[in-house]
Amino acid sequence: MAKVVLKNVYKIYPGNVVAVKDVNLEIEDKEFVVLVGPSGCGKSTTLRMIAGLEEISSGELYIGDKLMNDVPPKDRDIAMVFQNYALYPHMTVYENMAFGLKLRKVPKDIIDKKVREAARILDIEHLLDRKPKALSGGQRQRVALGRAIVREPKVFLMDEPLSNLDAKLRVQMRTEISKLHKRLNTTFIYVTHDQTEAMTMGTKIVVMKDGVIQQVAPPQEIYEHP
Ligand code: ADP
Ligand code: ADP
Repeated sequence: MAKVVLKNVYKIYPGNVVAVKDVNLEIEDKEFVVLVGPSGCGKSTTLRMIAGLEEISSGELYIGDKLMNDVPPKDRDIAMVFQNYALYPHMTVYENMAFGLKLRKVPKDIIDKKVREAARILDIEHLLDRKPKALSGGQRQRVALGRAIVREPKVFLMDEPLSNLDAKLRVQMRTEISKLHKRLNTTFIYVTHDQTEAMTMGTKIVVMKDGVIQQVAPPQEIYEHP
């Protein structure tokens, strides 16, 4: 269904910066894949190419059986959650979560049902009338997740979604996101530089270094590099 495949993918930024080099990766439907590696190794660029936010310099990207290289982000059946939440400050939580569906002209009663369902899953029903500035960091991140959930994407992309949270909350949200993955039963692709986070959350770990994939394995089979 929503298998994600990268074939010989390169990303070369202006100035001849080779950010991603001949990446080959098959992500099965419903897997929780974590891309991990030091800052600057090309994780975010890889995720952004899957999202369509960054053009692929060469190679092929498939979602399902469809070649996606030239498909705009809005037609990719994906949702992305960022580190900085990217919530609209002037909108309430409800409106933030409803916005993407409203743009897509989804009928109001259906939007209402989806927003309430997502709010229930994330335990933020009591916050629907608040503006983002009246929320804690953890609550904002839940709203960002809620905004992605209501779209019912086939693939969830997350770029360091927990790195702005304090240590205690970060550990708690790891568990919550793992639960969310099980509950939604969709493909998650998650980027982090934090090895512990990667090992505790992923069902498959992709280790990157200098734009290259070094290892792909379940967490228990990942070995340390010197
Ligand atoms: P990571 O997510 O692992 O920290 P990135 O994918 O953000 O790594 O970056 C990979 C490499 O590409 C780095 O060397 C970075 O400096 C470079 N890079 C990222 N974005 C751009 C850009 N817009 N223009 C030029 N170089 C970039
Ligand atoms: P519009 O922006 O199109 O005028 P409204 O703000 O009137 O839309 O909201 C339409 C519906 O969305 C309402 O009937 C209600 O069900 C729901 N809604 C909007 N804001 C909230 C909120 N803060 N809490 C709960 N439901 C809301």
